[in-house]
Amino acid sequence: MSDHPRFSIIAPVFNEEGNLPELYRRIKETMDATGEPWELVLVNDGSRDRSAEIMHELHAADARVKIIEFAKNFGHQLAVTAGLDYARGDAVVIIDADLQDPPSLILDMIEKWKEGFEVVYAVRAQRKGETWFKEFTAKLFYRIIYRITDIDIPLDTGDFRLIDRRAVDTLTTMRERNRFIRGMTSWIGFRQTGVEYVREERFAGETHYPFRKMFKFALDAITGFSYLPLQFAMYAGFAIAGLSAVAALAVIYARLFLASQAFFGQATTLVAVLFLGGIQLITLGIIGEYLGRIYDEVKHRPLYVVREARGFDEG
Ligand code: UDP
Ligand code: MG
Repeated sequence: MSDHPRFSIIAPVFNEEGNLPELYRRIKETMDATGEPWELVLVNDGSRDRSAEIMHELHAADARVKIIEFAKNFGHQLAVTAGLDYARGDAVVIIDADLQDPPSLILDMIEKWKEGFEVVYAVRAQRKGETWFKEFTAKLFYRIIYRITDIDIPLDTGDFRLIDRRAVDTLTTMRERNRFIRGMTSWIGFRQTGVEYVREERFAGETHYPFRKMFKFALDAITGFSYLPLQFAMYAGFAIAGLSAVAALAVIYARLFLASQAFFGQATTLVAVLFLGGIQLITLGIIGEYLGRIYDEVKHRPLYVVREARGFDEG
């Protein structure tokens, strides 16, 4: 068909019934202003509220709204992945469904894209209505990731970004299971730039990222892009071996020349054993984090399961 979309907007949806109509309204307003054909790809990540119904209503009213329905909740990053797999636009924009990412910023991104940038990410200049805890952990997270990973992931950016078709085609070949999409888009290279924005409060509903999920997400990011935790055992080993060599000399000296009663007690032995036991368990745990992810890869399951996809076959 001739109306091959120039732009695809992908929004992952998990229990966003209160946001979908407004999201559609604002995307439509913004994208119609470009005067080019566009599509909105809504990925229903196993919502348990009325999101699916509303998505079907939007699709029935406007064929530019396309739907991917997951068989269950697979998580935000996999919903975005499915969107990237199905989207057909020359430029693809990933946006949250809760309107924390202002759709109007897409126009600025498109401008940069037309200047020749293949990835335009949105940088959070300010966050509104977020608890100090979320803000603090998010800031800390981005800075830790930045320091310990091998790639330059821009600070304070989420998944809200525009990606050129060429970069999307590269991204969709990367089928790793534990995904950190903003890291993956940095890794592929291409010409990248950022535009600043103020992150709004959620339009409706609550965050689906409790601390537990954020922690798993942080681990995915770190294990996906850094070997530093694995090297921890070696560094700890050198440090402890060095210290014990010094300690051994000190003990010999004390016993020979000071005739002291130092280092006779059980407590000393116990503390040393427990300390080393602790270090060993931590190291095992770190190896476990990587091993579990390797096991996930080896199983080769599909990344997500689609129950139904609507609106993609006309083209
Ligand atoms: N989301 C999803 N699956 C999930 C959790 C979240 O598709 O399991 C979507 C959610 O609907 C929203 C986006 O991912 O569009 C970001 O989630 P949220 O707003 O809860 O995260 P926060 O902005 O608080 O970090
Ligand atoms: Mg949000």
